Amino acid sequence: MDVQERIANLRKTIEINSYKYYVEDNPELEDWEYDKLFKELKLLEEQHPELITPDSPTQRVGGISEKFIQVPHRIRLYSLDNSNNNEELHAWYNRVLKDVGEAKNTQLSLLGSNYDDIELVSELKIDGLAVSLTYKNGVFIQGLTRGDGVIGEDITNNLKTVKSIPLRLFEPIDIEVRGEIYMPISSFNKLNKIQIENNQKTFANPRNAAAGSIRQLDSSITASRDLSIFIYTAIIDKKYNIKTHTDAMDFCKKLGFRVNNYRKCKNINDVIQFCMDMSEYRKTLNYATDGVVIKVNSLYKQEELGFTARAPKWATAFKFPPEEVWSKLKSVEFSVGRTGVVTPVAVIEPVLLSGSTVGRASMYNFDELQRLDISLNDDVLIKKAAEIIPKVVRSRKTQNSKPLILPDNCPSCGAKLIDVEGEVARYCPNHDTCPAQIKGRIEYFVSKAAMDIDGFGEIVIEKLVNKGFIKYFSDIYKLTQEQLMSLELIQEKSSTNLMNAIEKSKDVLFSKFINALGIRLVGKESSDILAQNYKTIEELINAKYEDLAGIMGIGEKMAKSIVEYFQDEKNISVINEMLSLGVKITNKYQGIVDLRLKGQSYVITGTLETMSRDVAQAKLKELGAKTPSSVSKNTTFVVIGSNPGSKADKARELGIQILSENDLIKILKGE
Ligand code: NAD
Repeated sequence: MDVQERIANLRKTIEINSYKYYVEDNPELEDWEYDKLFKELKLLEEQHPELITPDSPTQRVGGISEKFIQVPHRIRLYSLDNSNNNEELHAWYNRVLKDVGEAKNTQLSLLGSNYDDIELVSELKIDGLAVSLTYKNGVFIQGLTRGDGVIGEDITNNLKTVKSIPLRLFEPIDIEVRGEIYMPISSFNKLNKIQIENNQKTFANPRNAAAGSIRQLDSSITASRDLSIFIYTAIIDKKYNIKTHTDAMDFCKKLGFRVNNYRKCKNINDVIQFCMDMSEYRKTLNYATDGVVIKVNSLYKQEELGFTARAPKWATAFKFPPEEVWSKLKSVEFSVGRTGVVTPVAVIEPVLLSGSTVGRASMYNFDELQRLDISLNDDVLIKKAAEIIPKVVRSRKTQNSKPLILPDNCPSCGAKLIDVEGEVARYCPNHDTCPAQIKGRIEYFVSKAAMDIDGFGEIVIEKLVNKGFIKYFSDIYKLTQEQLMSLELIQEKSSTNLMNAIEKSKDVLFSKFINALGIRLVGKESSDILAQNYKTIEELINAKYEDLAGIMGIGEKMAKSIVEYFQDEKNISVINEMLSLGVKITNKYQGIVDLRLKGQSYVITGTLETMSRDVAQAKLKELGAKTPSSVSKNTTFVVIGSNPGSKADKARELGIQILSENDLIKILKGE
């Protein structure tokens, strides 16, 4: 796969996952996994600027759902660029100084800048979701999500249930403010407890809970959730003569808005001190924070600095590094995963880490145990890997430390464990009958990122496997309602629901199907790559090692594992059985190749009512059309929204056919 293809694949994966995160509030990837892909795309685009397109995820933010009425923002909402360490903060500040052009000297010294300092302001970065609130004569009239920054979703009624949002201000003025909706950590913990009691899905973190709560169609659900807001931006009429961000925030406080504390910083070193102070202080707060936002205080200078395609140049977000905390190692459990890999898990004395209680932490594999020099009763340093999965990063001997005995046999089926050359993991080789492996495979098979069968809890799977009803994936499609009821775990209604969910899962995307097979080393992203490179399961089954290994993102080890998987006749017969039981695989990467607008060129001018211009352009491009920014004699159509610019006149001048938004919608729908 060449760079262009890799970029296209990354964009697709990022887009799919942005949609799940921003629109469905149901992310499948961990944030760090998403950030890794985003970083890779950004880097490739930096190395190949000619490949940047306006619809690339690096050029825009968020997403919008059709669930709500879509309303264009009067002034666009942006994301923030990140600075991950002090060097990046210095680099950002130097760019600001340079761009503002307050040069004492014209040369920038290598060690720092010779420009005059510019006042900055630092605030905590609240981990929630952005909304904009509009007030007329001091009365709250409309609240929108950030959406894709250009168009937001109207959630006014839901926002009215948030008690810290004033419905009437202390002064009857017109104003638009922006802020972060969040759920306090204590309320998040309570909500998850209730969700568990009611047999409902728990939320991964407070941000997710806040997003899921505020984007409900039924406001009474939102009202039942404890949400709050901090305002961090205001668009205030020039007549109030407000010159700095901090004055704007003080003005907001006086109007009745909830504004978090900020610190004025005379230069970037002050900012770094603030970040250090906050990295401890934030642990005492009842709300999740993921960094510090640093802004140029002068509104005039902000205007001068302007924006990139997705973020202001006058602000940056410093992201907190993952947290660490010491605890005691009580015991080590050896769990056998779906591929037979045995993973040591540390059972520790529960400790509070990044806002949640942690009682277990991963130690990955046997080599890692050696590297960490782990003994029972050691003190262990626990860190949240990219803020999500806790892991042990260091150990310290205590008076009570005693040697840890490593198992030679599988803790589930007793088979002798094996080492595979070139791999750090130890495996249970008993692929077909080890109960732990079967359960692990089935759990993975039914999970959201795979066949997505709702209603298969861990306990149900355990019973089905223990009773011998399920051994292979295809057995799921042979289950009867009587078998389910015989477990004495589920009521008739739930068993009907489960049977329906199994039936529904038969229509599956190719990438999800590949992922569901649980081929060793092949995860969600690689499954997606495989679906882009092979049209059907038959093609993939017959794929040659050399071809697989040559695909960017697959590599030799994975290629070997894939070939081995399909060489096993049992695996092929299970796949064939699933197909004969009605599993229907669709490959979206093959299905959407509809290039009916190839050769045409569309220029869009003015504001569209039903979608943003970015979205319209992306949709046109998907169908093969070009979407240049200016009108020329090669333009096929000019689409005109409200308040069109001079492009409309140019189109008329050149006699190019003009389309309304309705015409465009019809073309996109193929009508
Ligand atoms: P961001 O959250 O990194 O930063 C921008 C946002 O910060 C603003 O929109 C605003 O809502 C917020 N903010 C909080 N306090 C603020 C303050 N004091 N001043 C100004 N803004 C403040 O950017 P984003 O575009 O909202 O989201 C990107 C993040 O979302 C990534 O870090 C990524 O991990 C995550 N994400 C994850 C997935 C996934 O699949 N897991 C998908 C998409 C995005």
